[in-house]
This record gives sequence, C-alpha cells and structure tokens, in this order.
Amino acid sequence: MKLDTPIPTLTRIDEAHTKALKRLRLATVGDLLYHLPTRYENIAEIQSLGTLEKGQDAIVYGQVSGLKTRKAWKSRRPIAEGWIEDGSSKMKVIWFNQPYLAKMVQNGAYVKMAGKVAGSDGKLYLANPEIERLTELPVDRHDSIFKGTGDDDETLYPVYRETRGVTSKWFYHAVKRAFEAGVLDAIVDPIPEEILKRYNLPELRTALQWVHTPKKAAHTEAARKRFAFEEVFAIQLAKQKERAETFSASSYVVRTEDNHVSAFTDRFPFPLTGAQAKAIKDILQDMTGKHPMSRLLEGDVGSGKTAVAATTAYAVATSRPRTDKDFGNLQIAYMAPTEILAKQHFLSFIEYFRHLPIQIGLITGSGCMKFPSKAKPTEPTDISRTHLLKWVKNGEIPILIGTHALIQKAVEFKHLAYVVIDEQHRFGTAQRRALAKKDDRIPHLLSMTATPIPRTLALTIYGDLDVTLLDQMPVGRKPIITKTVLAPEREAMYTHLRAELETGRQAYVICPRIDEPDPDMQLALQAKSVKAEAERLSKKELKGYRLGILHSKMTSQAKEKLMAEFSSGRIDVLVATSVVEVGVNVPNATVILIEGAERFGLSQLHQLRGRVMRSSHQAYCYLLPESTGEKTVARLKALTTAKNGFELAEYDLALRGSGELYGAKQWGLTDLGMEAIKNMKMVEAARTEAAALIAKDPSLDQHPLLRERSVRIMGTLHFE
Ligand code: ADP
Ligand code: MG
Repeated sequence: MKLDTPIPTLTRIDEAHTKALKRLRLATVGDLLYHLPTRYENIAEIQSLGTLEKGQDAIVYGQVSGLKTRKAWKSRRPIAEGWIEDGSSKMKVIWFNQPYLAKMVQNGAYVKMAGKVAGSDGKLYLANPEIERLTELPVDRHDSIFKGTGDDDETLYPVYRETRGVTSKWFYHAVKRAFEAGVLDAIVDPIPEEILKRYNLPELRTALQWVHTPKKAAHTEAARKRFAFEEVFAIQLAKQKERAETFSASSYVVRTEDNHVSAFTDRFPFPLTGAQAKAIKDILQDMTGKHPMSRLLEGDVGSGKTAVAATTAYAVATSRPRTDKDFGNLQIAYMAPTEILAKQHFLSFIEYFRHLPIQIGLITGSGCMKFPSKAKPTEPTDISRTHLLKWVKNGEIPILIGTHALIQKAVEFKHLAYVVIDEQHRFGTAQRRALAKKDDRIPHLLSMTATPIPRTLALTIYGDLDVTLLDQMPVGRKPIITKTVLAPEREAMYTHLRAELETGRQAYVICPRIDEPDPDMQLALQAKSVKAEAERLSKKELKGYRLGILHSKMTSQAKEKLMAEFSSGRIDVLVATSVVEVGVNVPNATVILIEGAERFGLSQLHQLRGRVMRSSHQAYCYLLPESTGEKTVARLKALTTAKNGFELAEYDLALRGSGELYGAKQWGLTDLGMEAIKNMKMVEAARTEAAALIAKDPSLDQHPLLRERSVRIMGTLHFE
C-alpha cells in the first residue's frame, strides 16, 4: 500500500462515494490521509435525554419530529416547537421568537442540539437550542468503535468535512483500513527532523495516527499543530522561493530627484499624509536598485493609495536612460479588478496628469480610450483597440490603465517598467515575466489592497512581498458616525436618511443577497434581498426617490451604466449587494444602511462603510442586524471603537474564528491553515525556517518531498 494508491484499491466504493470523493478532490490514499478531521466529538460528553434535569446546559443527539410553528396564545409571539428523540427518551423542544429555526430541519432529520433544559418536572423542554444538522448520529459510546482505552473521559470521535455520499464514519474506516494495510510504513516525513525537534512537533507517522484515530485530546492537538505548521511552512517555502527568484531577476532602474517628485505632488489640492510621503519614498528607493521591487501597499479605504500610485507612476514615466535618446518612455500598467474601477482610476489619472504631455490609455473588455488626443485635448476620446495596442507597443502611451484585459497576450509593451495592481492578489513573478516577454527585465510591482488583514495572514499569503502600510488618514475628514439600529429606531433612521437626501446627498442600502433563494436555507429564509428591498423602499420609506439596484449578476455594462448614473446624481439611493465594497468612489454619498449586518465580518462591514467615507460631509453608517442578541450587538460595537481596519481584522480573527475572516475562503487555506494564522509564533517560525532552507537549497533539490508538498499546496490556494 502506497500513498499514490487509488482509493478504490483500498476499499470498495459505490457511485455516491466516487462522486463525493471527486467533489472533495480526494483520489489517492495519500489524499485521504491528508483529509484531516475538522474537529472531534467527545462521545463521553453526550447526554442522554432521559437523564437531563431542569436548568442544565445540554448537548444532545437525536432525531427530530413533530415540528410546527404557532403563536403564543397571550403575547402572540411566534413559537416553533417539536420533539427530539435519542433512543433513551423523547423531549419537547421550543424556540421562542425564532420560528425560522424550525424550518431549518425536517421531521426525521438527525441533529445535534445545544440548549438549556427548562420547564417543570415531568414537563421538561429544551429551550431555544442551537441546531446542527447531521448525516448520521454518532455511535453510541458503549459499543463505540472509537473506544480505545476504556477511558470514557476521552472517547473521541473524529468529524470530517463531509459531503453528500461520504460520512465521517466512512472516512474513519477507510483511514483505519489504510493504516492496517501498512500505508504508514511507506511514509517519509517531508519536514526535516531538526525542524520538528526545534518546535517539538510530532513526526508524520505519529501525527497521522494521532489525528485520525486519537486516544486522547492532547494527541489531537499535537498532531493538528504539526499539520498546521506543515501547511504554513509549505506555503512559506513557495513564497520565499518566489521572493528569491524575483530578486535575482533584473529590472529597470528608475532614478528621480526629490524636487522632480515634489513638483508633481505640490500641485495636489491637498498635502500628502506622512504615510503617503513615506510610501512614495520607499517605492522610489526600491526602484533605484537593479532588482525588481515587490511591494504591497495596504491602506484603509480612503487612505489615498491612488495618489501614491500616480506619483510613483509619474516618476517612472518621466525617467529614461540618459544615454539613449531613442529609448522612449518607461511604461506603466495599472490594473483594476472591475471596469468601473478601471474607468475611475483612468479619470483620476487624467486629473493628476492633465498638465503634462503624458498620454494615458484605458483598456477594458468593453472598449478603449485615451487622453489627451489631438481632436479632444481636454477630455478622453474613444479609440479602437487596434490603435491603442499599436501605441502601447511602440511606447507612445506610457501609462495604460485597465482590467484583466491589460494582461492579455495581444497587449505588448515596449518597456514595461512598473505594474500597479489595485485590489487583487494573484500576481506573481510568472505573470510579470509574461508581461515582460520582450526582454529579460521584469517590471517593478506595487500591489495595493484596502482589505485589512491580520499581520499573520499578510506574512503568509504575501510572504514574497515587502509590506508598506498607509495607516494614516488624510486630515480634515470627519469620522463616520456608526450606529446599530434596532427595529423600534428604524423609523427615525429613515427620517434622517430622507433629510440627507433632501439636502442633495446620496445613499447606499446594502442587502445580503440578490433575489433567488440561497442554497443555505437559513439565509434564504431571512436575509433581505436587493430586489425585494428596493421594491419595498420605493413604495414605503423612500417613495418618490430615485432608486437603482446593483449586484454581481448584472452584466458589467449594466453595472457601469448604473454606477455612472449614481455618480452623476441621477440616482439617489443605490440598493446593492456587497459588490460595492470594492473601491467605488462617489463622494456625494454620505449614508449607508447595511441590512443583515451580522452576516458580514467586521472588516467587511468596515470596507462597506468605506464607501461613504470619501467626502468632507458628515457620513453615517447604520447597521441593521436581523437578530438583536447580546453577542451580535456587542460584536457590531467594535465598529465604533476600533481605530482602523487592521484592528477590526484582528477582532474578526479572534471573535468569529478564522473561517469567518473576511476573504479567508477566497484564499483557499484549509481550516487548519487558518487556525495557524491565529498563532503569530508559528507563522514566524515557518517563515524563518523556510527562508533559511531556501537560502541553502534554492530549488529544494535536496528536499524533493518538501518541494512536492509545497507545489501541491500552492495548487489548492488562490493567492499565488
Ligand atoms: P484609496 O484608494 O486608498 O481608497 P483614494 O486614493 O481613492 O483612496 O483617495 C480617496 C480620496 O482622498 C480621493 O478623493 C483623493 O483625492 C483624496 N486624497 C488622497 N490623498 C489625500 C490627502 N493626503 N489629503 C486629502 N485628501 C486626499
Ligand atoms: Mg482605491
């Protein structure tokens, strides 16, 4: 039995298994071993319904029946009720004020419930329990296959990430079978022994046994720590390798005098913040070296990243080798994630460069523009793609702004020296090389993000970049007023909203979904949708105002048209999903209402309210949670106390756990990898060890297993 043995050779599987394993991308025995349990149930903790007493906090497993909803006869409050049965006994379950909970499950469903036992003797019931749907009930502890030691205190039951077709039990047995077939004998640990020793981590074979078939909780923890380290270490190896490779390439040297730069920035209608000045200095300093810069500029919404990009782009565009008169301009590519943003940057750049003889091009999927042109010296002109590409290729257009269209093969630059990327993460040395295919020099890279992320995460996913923070906001902006609004205060809030609209301001209303039911039933049952809410508002609170809707399912033309209408003030209120979170800039919008606020992470809410932090008018953010539980309100309060987005990101990580961290899912780290992100020491250790190893063995030729592990993990991530 080897790691690359296909799973069907190990154990007989049916069609449902085949599909399910494919969905989980598990093909070999090795994949199976690395499909780690997400958590453990301690079977000894399970209480049987027959023994519960009043006032007890109970965790029970059972089957649901008799679900129904009704109104309390006196208060008319909605109530949902049903029964749970576990073989030993049957108990009533009641949810007050949360009738939707009963709709989350069906009669006959297997569930885990956690709640308080209430009522009176003989008439006990489980009050407001949380429900978790299960595909099966855990085995009874008394004939448990998991009972290894006879020590009932720790009879651990591994719970795997499941999908229709395979259950935790199936995983457990399959792994056990692999162990029995001797798969562990074939395993060699990719992590060098001395590293394991240094951090007191168990060796791979032991860790696999401990993680899948644990005998004690301490073992599962040690094993999980090892796998978490392994994941972050493997990522760091790839990042440090990339960093070393980029650094060994050569790039265009850009030398600029201080007074040359200040001639440009002195024209701004505002003084630079200290953080902006420092960022510009760092970037220009990097560019004086022969090696390409790789830098991440992280700054809250509104911290002025565009000005930094424009100033450094100016320095590049006006710099050329003094020796070669026919050389032409160095060029800059500025890439934005959406057409709306590309256009917005294009227009900002026109303002920044209006006084200079520097041409600026715009390329998106729906067309090309340029500024200035002979025909239209003061405003942008539509031009054909062919023309634009020609002028970019011969170097006449030094600054090209665009969407992904910018990095298509057809786009060739003459001397691409600098790439600026706004709000997007996937841009490694390979892409830079591809862009620079004409000669051997690869462009400097500035990657900008307004997504505040915890430092540990930044060190991991941006391990190949140097990081500059724009942690200072321009002066003169009034701090935004953020308020959590409960049902009775809604009327007053709408009154205020109308007053703002009357003075000519604009507003956003954010809803968690578009319109169609979400596969996640709970969401479908509750969350407000853009379409329905716009409809409702237009008949009620916002009757007579001009409403527009914006969501991700619209075509980019439709979105663009709508944003243009909103920008120009032809729409008063934009009802949207969170698509507006990425950098849309309408300074006249001063109010944002966020429905279902607790569905968003704190840092995402911060991003959203950033939409109204752009003007000198007082801005307001109203958070409208669906539930008014203490926890929800307390969590939302952080938005009024935290100093900046970075602080909120750290809160998210601490409060909601890594799975909820804004953007975490999009990066594709495993749950365990995300767990590691909570641990600064581990992240730093992984980084240090990886850098040291790459310095000694740059291509990991002496560590083929590690190289394989690193390549494999990078293949599953989305931030390369
Ligand atoms: P970001 O991209 O970081 O969210 P922008 O670059 O779009 O921010 O800047 C937001 C707004 O602030 C723009 O209108 C810009 O002109 C303005 N701005 C930028 N820097 C400053 C500054 N130092 N002082 C005042 N306003 C500034
Ligand atoms: Mg921006």
